[in-house]
Amino acid sequence: MALTGKTAVVTGSTSGIGLAYARALAAAGVNVVINGFGEAKDIEAERARIESDFRVKAAYSPADMTKPAEIAGMIAFGEKTFGAVDILINNAGIQFVSPIEEFPVEKWDAIIAINLSSAFHAIRAAVPGMKKRGWGRIISTASAHSLVASPYKAAYIAAKHGIAGLTKTVALELAQSRITCNCISPGYVWTPLVEKQIPDTMKSRNMTKEQVINDVLLAAQPTKQFVTVEQVAALAVFLCGDEASQITGANLSIDGGWTAA
Ligand code: NAD
Repeated sequence: MALTGKTAVVTGSTSGIGLAYARALAAAGVNVVINGFGEAKDIEAERARIESDFRVKAAYSPADMTKPAEIAGMIAFGEKTFGAVDILINNAGIQFVSPIEEFPVEKWDAIIAINLSSAFHAIRAAVPGMKKRGWGRIISTASAHSLVASPYKAAYIAAKHGIAGLTKTVALELAQSRITCNCISPGYVWTPLVEKQIPDTMKSRNMTKEQVINDVLLAAQPTKQFVTVEQVAALAVFLCGDEASQITGANLSIDGGWTAA
């Protein structure tokens, strides 16, 4: 397969969607640099599992996505360890929910840094190597919230709309360099984080599990089904292939119809 031997850096890949990207790329023969927070032993277990499950090389970068110098260092680490960073997936993200007039300034700053500025710093650092080698794939995890808004998520929605704009700009700049830049916009994705919210919401709203899923979590998602991390990761792997070389500057929804409504 064409991706064998390439290298990907996936930010925020110690859990959830990012880990699924890393595993799906590894399954396609790509060496991966994983990144994100968590218990050292859990991260090492995931790293080792990628190597043993897929017979590729996996390395870990602890770079903090709020720190530009560490982000540049993560790209340099990927290039030094594997000789190249061919694929960059900007995925690290956090959320905070609050009315605008009470929104904590430090939460705004953290969300803009992690969910938006980190993609700028990583792209900026990865593009010179991609240009030199004449091939690259840049993918960012945006969100249905890059296209539509919901109340109380000012920073997250501003950051995700920013990712959509950054994606288009970078795609145009690199259009003749055999480097594509796209973003993927999931709706509600089934992750451990989502699963853990269910019992509390059942209690606080006096609802059954089905009511919480259909009327709270999936209220905006017409299919009434969660997107899976594997579905999001499969789309990213497709975007890395030759079949996707003419897809650039796109914001691809995978949201059960959410943004069609
Ligand atoms: P998650 O919490 O499971 O994963 C987030 C990852 O980011 C983790 O690996 C975490 O350690 C890492 N991270 C957080 N702060 C960091 C920092 N400062 N530096 C480095 N890494 C950091 O969440 P997820 O649901 O897998 O989300 C991944 C991405 O997908 C996010 O950008 C999120 O906005 C987006 N997204 C998620 C959903 C959903 O329903 N889960 C929907 C749309 C978009």
